[in-house]
Amino acid sequence: MNGLDLLGPEHRGLFIGGTWRDAEGGKRLDVIDPADASVLTDVADGSVADAVDALDAAVAAQADWAATPARERGEILRTAFELITERAEGFAHLMSLEMGKTVAEAAGEVTYGAEFFRWYAEEAVRIHGRWMQAPGGGSRLLTIKKPVGPCLFITPWNFPLAMGTRKIGPAVAAGCTMVVKPASQTPLSMLALAAVLEEAGLPAGVLNVITTSHTGEFSQTLQADDRLRKVSFTGSTGVGRVLVRQSADRLQRVSMELGGNAPFLVFEDADVDAAVDGAMIAKMRNMGEACTAANRFLVHASVAEEFAEKLGKRMGALTLGRGQDEGVDVGPLIDERAVESVSQLVTDAVHDGATVVTGGRAADGPGYFYPPTVLLGVPVDSEINVQEIFGPVAPITTFDSEADAIRIANDTEYGLASYVYTRDLSRTIRLAEALEFGMVGVNTGLVSNPAAPFGGVKSSGFGREGGFEGIEEYLETTYVALPAG
Ligand code: NAP
Repeated sequence: MNGLDLLGPEHRGLFIGGTWRDAEGGKRLDVIDPADASVLTDVADGSVADAVDALDAAVAAQADWAATPARERGEILRTAFELITERAEGFAHLMSLEMGKTVAEAAGEVTYGAEFFRWYAEEAVRIHGRWMQAPGGGSRLLTIKKPVGPCLFITPWNFPLAMGTRKIGPAVAAGCTMVVKPASQTPLSMLALAAVLEEAGLPAGVLNVITTSHTGEFSQTLQADDRLRKVSFTGSTGVGRVLVRQSADRLQRVSMELGGNAPFLVFEDADVDAAVDGAMIAKMRNMGEACTAANRFLVHASVAEEFAEKLGKRMGALTLGRGQDEGVDVGPLIDERAVESVSQLVTDAVHDGATVVTGGRAADGPGYFYPPTVLLGVPVDSEINVQEIFGPVAPITTFDSEADAIRIANDTEYGLASYVYTRDLSRTIRLAEALEFGMVGVNTGLVSNPAAPFGGVKSSGFGREGGFEGIEEYLETTYVALPAG
């Protein structure tokens, strides 16, 4: 199985108004295999004029799509869910090739990503307003939900499929049309997804996909257009800030799923073996290249050495290699810059006084490999505890009291995921209330679930994806005041 066969030659073009076509001037963009830095294939490099064509198509399709019965919109998502599930192996291989993660991990993302289509196929028919008597009597209040209108979606390279389905699923269900721009480093999964939605019967113009290297100009142009009503972005906090600023003139609605700096708290009463199992998931899912990745391991001083030793053994036993090869647990990072950034953070932490339990040095090329690494005794203010690591490194910092743990955990500009290991129920409730994060995992290393509201606070952004909340991002409320009759 070679995932590239999911895509015909036409599917490496732009998808605009239901047609696959070349970019203006026939420009192309290389897609690199991070396991050996070779060119995998290329895709169209859309121009700003192509992007405007895509918005034209989305605008032209909006009214009919909003008027399409919800059941029909839902059935298209359900069919797409089934097609992705049938072709899960192909999708997993394709994603592994372009992004580097192992095929098994990519298969997990395919399941997770497809579930957003199943969930929102079911939610499409549950969009409703409300009817109530005004508290003082005398009048009636009616609310109607309507689709927001044409949307712009920009997605990152780390989850090439799921970050798309998390936006496309609720938008399709709500009756919105859209222009989608996947990350330039991993455009293939999104193109394969567009082909599936076309096959599932999504009308022309509802979904338009532009691959482009002109990212800045692209977003500036589309956001300066009055017809665009909403921007949903998943990516770094820095780019999120740019997009929010660009939304100000036209007052577009915005949803921002940005960076994280998740604390992973292990208390003295925790089951340390369970905490190590959870740490392996929270740290190593996606080689640590996840916004939800445990970034800071805050461990009570009385169990820190035991935790570090057990985690070090597990991390040290993982096999590094090409994501498509048998027996490989950890694939390459996305690019050279990622390896350099992780290496620098580790070097600085050691300079600050940390001890290397396992790993600690970038593997030789070709390809962008960094080994699973555990550091003990990392000072709380070391840069590795401040920045998003985005790699397979677990820095362990100790604490002495619950109050200290909460203070250190909250002392970050980010507020996406957090993890807590304790067997004390009262403490669990105190922590869930005190931690300034959009998500708290209790005795688990995995919080993502299509039925749950995923999202952050502070510099991790705003808005929620998934769950009942996710569709609200694509709906407006009209209030109708009525006489009592
Ligand atoms: P990134 O550099 O912000 O890029 C994300 C996307 O934004 C890419 O498609 C990129 O296009 C595009 N982009 C960059 N500059 C732009 C501009 N001026 N206008 C329009 N689009 C622009 O982030 P990344 O390195 O791909 O992803 C990693 C980050 O995403 C991490 O911080 C991670 O925490 C975050 N993330 C958050 C979540 C969440 O749900 N909160 C989930 C996953 C990842 P090009 O590829 O063409 O540069």
